[in-house]
Amino acid sequence: MQLEEVKSMNKDQRVATHSHIRGLGLKPEGTAEPVAAGFVGQETAREAAGVVVDLIKTKRFAGRAVLLAGAPGTGKTAIAYAISQELGPRVPFCPMTGSEVYSSEVKKTEVLMESFRRAISLRVKDTKEVYEGEVTEITPEEAENPLGGYSKTVANVVVGLKTAKGTKQLRLDPSIYESLLKEKVSTGDVIYIEANTGAVKRVGRSDAYATEYDLEADEYVPLPKGDVHKKREVIQDVTLHDLDVANARPQGGQDIVSMMSQLMKPRKTEITDKMRTEINKAVNKYVEQGTAELVPGVLFIDEVHMLDIECFTYLNRALESNISPIVVLASNRGLCTIRGTEDLRAPHGIPRDLLDRMLIVRTAPYTKSEIQIILDIRAKIEGLKLSADALDYAADVGVQSSLRYAIQLLTPANVMAQISGRTEIQKDDVSETGELFLDAKKSVAIVQSASGALFM
Ligand code: ATP
Repeated sequence: MQLEEVKSMNKDQRVATHSHIRGLGLKPEGTAEPVAAGFVGQETAREAAGVVVDLIKTKRFAGRAVLLAGAPGTGKTAIAYAISQELGPRVPFCPMTGSEVYSSEVKKTEVLMESFRRAISLRVKDTKEVYEGEVTEITPEEAENPLGGYSKTVANVVVGLKTAKGTKQLRLDPSIYESLLKEKVSTGDVIYIEANTGAVKRVGRSDAYATEYDLEADEYVPLPKGDVHKKREVIQDVTLHDLDVANARPQGGQDIVSMMSQLMKPRKTEITDKMRTEINKAVNKYVEQGTAELVPGVLFIDEVHMLDIECFTYLNRALESNISPIVVLASNRGLCTIRGTEDLRAPHGIPRDLLDRMLIVRTAPYTKSEIQIILDIRAKIEGLKLSADALDYAADVGVQSSLRYAIQLLTPANVMAQISGRTEIQKDDVSETGELFLDAKKSVAIVQSASGALFM
């Protein structure tokens, strides 16, 4: 939970638009199903991405990168995200666009370095004292309010935990009740409660869950005592960037536990190269000892032609490092000038030496029926209902304009439908929304004709 506090919202939102993608949707022999794992069409690119995943898993991808070449809105981000999904659970995905490196406050290479470190996780194995068992009953008790009546604050929570040694009723601290709610724990769930912090983790459902319990009414065992203690290995994931941020503060030791405990405190000082070197040293030490493992994720850089020669030099070097994520670049440009050079032209604006390291995968434009299926999937995810006519019309909009534009029309079209007292989006809602919000082509045409009129 603390880890989320230091994550940028912006990046999370970008990933949320791809939440329906659960992988590349490939059959075991590597061929793509037309619609699978939330992915629609784009079969060749998905199959190529599958080969890349195999190379990464068999550790034959070191020093290389992927370039996805294709028009905007052909699912390049979606493919990069699916690669991270295929690499395993909780593998980081860090999307950025080339132009993000140009900031007045931070050096270009610093922005790139930060993104590299956001895309690598450290998976720490730790042993914790926990109460573990099956939840038999959750009974919140109201507290008596000194001013009279009962306050809504929960004073006592009783959880019946079924353990190896029989069923125990535990009287828990109210804060633990909050954790139970947060983890959506209900009776029949298997949970563990960390003895020191009271943090609750739901680990699954009990198959053997039965309704007969032999609870002795007053057998309350206050935490953290009792005989239900167990040692349990827990896994925590934290990105190298999280560690940088957490440790860019005055206090804090170099051992992994104090590095992780720094996560809760607000940022104070700058992240320096020296500090990163120290963190790398500590990380390497823990990896060697076997208490932690590095999990390289996917760094996705869209509009790669926006990077300049200095950034490309940095990328080249970073790919050589033994701590490097999988780098996926995307471009919709052909031959163009490499930024930061006089007039050095290269395919996609990428220098030759870097291009030589890349596996290039092409993405193709979508057909109307593919767009229709993607729109249908997104509408379901966003809880929107579309009539068959509306879906067909929106798919036409997608073909003429772009898939992204068509998807963006759905939510405002739903507002239109609601205003008219309907729960289902009709064709007219989509077309009216399309008149209110222009796509890029229409807005350029209007601005051009307006400025034309001004200069007549
Ligand atoms: P690009 O990176 O090429 O511009 P993208 O992956 O960002 O493309 P968008 O145009 O933003 O794609 O796509 C809009 C939405 O459609 C996103 O939610 C994306 O996940 C989804 N999407 C794109 N391609 C596919 C596909 N082949 N199958 C399913 N969903 C897709």
